[in-house]
Amino acid sequence: MQNQAHVDSWYAATANRKLDLPPLEGSTDSDVCVIGGGYTGLSTAIHLRQLGYSVTVLEANRMGWGASGRNGGHVATGQRADQETLEKWLGLDRAKALWELGLEAVDTVCDLIEQHNIDCELKQGNLHVASKARDIAELPAEVEHLQKVYGYQQIRYVDARELAEMTSAQGFGGATLDSGSRHLHPLNFCLGLADAALQLGAQLHEGSRVLSYSEGKQLTVRTDRGEVRAKFLVVACNGYLEKLEPRAAGRIMPINNYMLATAPLPEELARRLIRDDTSMSDSRFVINYWKLSADNRLLFGGGESYSSRFPADIKGFVRKYMLRIYPELADTRIDYGWGGTLAITLKRMPDFGRLSGNVFYAHGYSGHGVPTATLAGKLLAEVISGTAERFDVMAGVPASQFPGGTLLRWPGLVAGMLFYSLRDRIG
Ligand SMILES: Cc1cc2nc3c(=O)[nH]c(=O)nc-3n(C[C@H](O)[C@H](O)[C@H](O)COP(=O)(O)OP(=O)(O)OC[C@H]3O[C@@H](n4cnc5c(N)ncnc54)[C@H](O)[C@@H]3O)c2cc1C
Repeated sequence: MQNQAHVDSWYAATANRKLDLPPLEGSTDSDVCVIGGGYTGLSTAIHLRQLGYSVTVLEANRMGWGASGRNGGHVATGQRADQETLEKWLGLDRAKALWELGLEAVDTVCDLIEQHNIDCELKQGNLHVASKARDIAELPAEVEHLQKVYGYQQIRYVDARELAEMTSAQGFGGATLDSGSRHLHPLNFCLGLADAALQLGAQLHEGSRVLSYSEGKQLTVRTDRGEVRAKFLVVACNGYLEKLEPRAAGRIMPINNYMLATAPLPEELARRLIRDDTSMSDSRFVINYWKLSADNRLLFGGGESYSSRFPADIKGFVRKYMLRIYPELADTRIDYGWGGTLAITLKRMPDFGRLSGNVFYAHGYSGHGVPTATLAGKLLAEVISGTAERFDVMAGVPASQFPGGTLLRWPGLVAGMLFYSLRDRIG
């Protein structure tokens, strides 16, 4: 089906821009063709226009229709994998380079918001809470490691007593407070990026699903009604890649994640849930994440599934995770429930790469895509304009193929995911 409307979410209900962009018709020439109108594609378009390249973005549905318009809106520092894991895997120097890029990713989000005057409820701070005894015991050392080895002073340890003053969330015995992290309204951020790309002169088309492309010095990218002839191609489809690019598809796994929005909460209750209006996340493998909206709704994300179908009752599916943490919300009305698809990798680090000299991709942000996909756009623009160094720091992180490649990934992945979510439950 072509050009589906935005999913029925609190974000779509509070979108502050309505874009209605024409589908691609006929034949057009562009320096770069980008497939996908989420953060990756739109940030690529903005940064390429700033370097003087002509850009055409082809989006099958609406700008921000994918994960970029449906996510938790957490803009976390660092990478999805923690620094000590990265150090063991890649060595301290490369881990440090990745940490710096992670900080730059958050700055890139903030800079784009400021430069293009994007109204998207940008706020500061993430409180990351731990429930298992082992996770709680490790927090002080993790904080000290980031402070001493990385010189990062914006994170601090929060003990159980202080935590109880900051939130009524149940079941957690300690936390870290990272005031370098941000949170925002993800769809309004994405629509603001689309607007910025348009203002800078990029050609943006909605309802323009790419059906195929042929490669060569000049590429031809085809939709049902038109084609783009380009010197470079960027594939920016993440969890929605499907069969378009089998060479990259085996490196990622699409998974579904779900969110709800409660009715607006009284101010006193909202402050009890999250005193300082930070975002919050927990240390479970299948992570729960939450924050308040500008109108004091709790926006809560929890639960995953691995098939192409979403649960019939998404509100009820997510509500049970929310009630484990905030039993006091048992009588609170749930106004919205929705799901989205994101791409993960085996090592939970993103997969950046080249499929040929002029075809690039970035995906597999593993739940850390608000900052990382936005940064990916900047690095994709750099590599296309001839500066590969920083793109190659990301591309150099070995992202193994999923065992079984594109066809047989599911059984192994599902078994693995179920194992880890069982570990979450039994602590
Ligand atoms: C429920 C949920 C919660 C999340 N929470 C967070 C969070 O709090 N923080 C965080 O950092 N990350 C989070 N993520 C992940 C984050 O949203 C993604 O990593 C990020 O949005 C990926 O951006 P993208 O532009 O690469 O992909 P997307 O935003 O998914 O965009 C891909 C686009 O490609 C289009 N497309 C696909 N095929 C074609 C084709 N053939 N032709 C044309 N267009 C095509 C799709 O229609 C889609 O719009 C979450 C994801 C979900 C689903």
